[in-house]
Amino acid sequence: MVLDGAGDEIMNGTRSYILGLDQGTTSCRALLFDRAGRVVRVAQEEFTQSYPRPGWVEQDADEIWAVQERVMRQVAGAVGPEAIAAVGIANQRETAVVWDRATGAPLHPAIVWQCRRSTDICDQLRRAGAEVRFQQKTGLLLDPYFSGTKLTWLFENDPALRRRAEAGEVLFGTIDTWLLWKLTGGRVHATDVSNASRTLLFDIHARDWDDELLGLLGVPRAMLPQVRSSSEVYGHTDLLGGQPIPVAGMAGDQQAALFGQTCFAPGTAKNTYGTGCFLLMNVGGRPISPAHGLLATVAWELDGAVEYALEGSVFVAGAALQWLRDGLGILRETPESDALARAVPDTAGVYFVPAFTGLGTPHWNPEARGMITGLTRGTRREHLVRAALEAIAYQSKDVLDLMEQVSGVRITTLRVDGGAARNDFLLQFQADLLGVDVARPEVTETTARGAAFLAGLAVGFWRDRAELATLWQAERTFRPAMDAQERDEKCRGWKRAVAYQT
Ligand code: ADP
Repeated sequence: MVLDGAGDEIMNGTRSYILGLDQGTTSCRALLFDRAGRVVRVAQEEFTQSYPRPGWVEQDADEIWAVQERVMRQVAGAVGPEAIAAVGIANQRETAVVWDRATGAPLHPAIVWQCRRSTDICDQLRRAGAEVRFQQKTGLLLDPYFSGTKLTWLFENDPALRRRAEAGEVLFGTIDTWLLWKLTGGRVHATDVSNASRTLLFDIHARDWDDELLGLLGVPRAMLPQVRSSSEVYGHTDLLGGQPIPVAGMAGDQQAALFGQTCFAPGTAKNTYGTGCFLLMNVGGRPISPAHGLLATVAWELDGAVEYALEGSVFVAGAALQWLRDGLGILRETPESDALARAVPDTAGVYFVPAFTGLGTPHWNPEARGMITGLTRGTRREHLVRAALEAIAYQSKDVLDLMEQVSGVRITTLRVDGGAARNDFLLQFQADLLGVDVARPEVTETTARGAAFLAGLAVGFWRDRAELATLWQAERTFRPAMDAQERDEKCRGWKRAVAYQT
């Protein structure tokens, strides 16, 4: 455990808060957490998204920083900098920023994780037979989603930039690295292992940037940040006034949420129900080989030990409800779906496969498209709404089943968060389908909370993970109530519906 200059004040309680920064895809948030892990202040602001061509997504790294700094100052100003023990960062993952080492100026718009511009580069590498190497070393697939091929694209389009990067004049970072650089006034160029593990450049077994992969992608080592643990003092920020405050925790947003949900033991898992779903399961100290579209990823490094996770994603979850609202106009607002779904005893045989943008884990079929089956003259909007909510649960079950199969570990409780986790019908149906408890925490700000926990551990604000585990409280636990025969019948129906697409 690392204690710095602020240690005495942390111990005697005058520094009462940890500042968690949650730099998301569409907004920057700053949250203050007290010793009980409760949120005492929040500020949030959106920033600009640019879509310069179909499939391309860019952001302005300077704007991200300006917005992040503003919300951070807002919440810090409310309690004063001397009350803050440390800062932790959780961030949208894989988004790539390059900037000038000397001036700190970004040299290209940030290329966002969603951006598909490096699809051809991924295809070429796949044709050259490189995917297996990437998979073995990084746990990832060759997909434009990850940062590495975004850099390849930049250099193919600007060879002079590569020469400058080789000379050490240009720096690369994911958003954690960019924020840390800014917070420390350009003194620290570092990332944490969880973020490094999303770049396609990092060997998750050797825990270092990998020269073979750097060579395949044409990325100079000189531009890469130092890889550090997820919980340690990386540097200090003096931007808030008062004594410099340690920046002491970093993790990618999904890993931070896993930590914030205190999924510390192998076999514990969380599902975030947002636009899509992100499921992560802690698998302990050894990575499990990825299979069937599951990714192997670093969960975090803490106290000298790296822990790993399996990750699966569902592309369309809450977005299916938004489509019923905006596309069909049969919902006024998405929360209304809860009562509508309960207004009918079942979907009357209707299944909704919301594969608007292909199917993710375990099907991994980019060509699949959405479908509604089993319509009759008696089908009502309640049935469609119910089928949409049930589809979120079926898709999540498919991912969890696969995780259990691949890891050999049986999940006992699923911890949940995200906007659609407010839907009680959905969570009850999820518990029924899985046959395990589904637990919604009192504090649903799990991403920022995970960043705060990581930072707080590093400066002695919290003692250890056992203490953090006591701070996690269920607001409500949904217990399975459906009998096995009914469940199996429903799941067979879902599988038949999905089979039309795969
Ligand atoms: P993201 O971070 O992906 O933008 P959020 O976690 O903010 O997503 O969740 C937003 C999603 O949750 C939307 O797709 C919305 O349709 C869905 N959602 C929000 N509230 C409910 C609800 N009560 N029932 C079902 N879906 C909901």
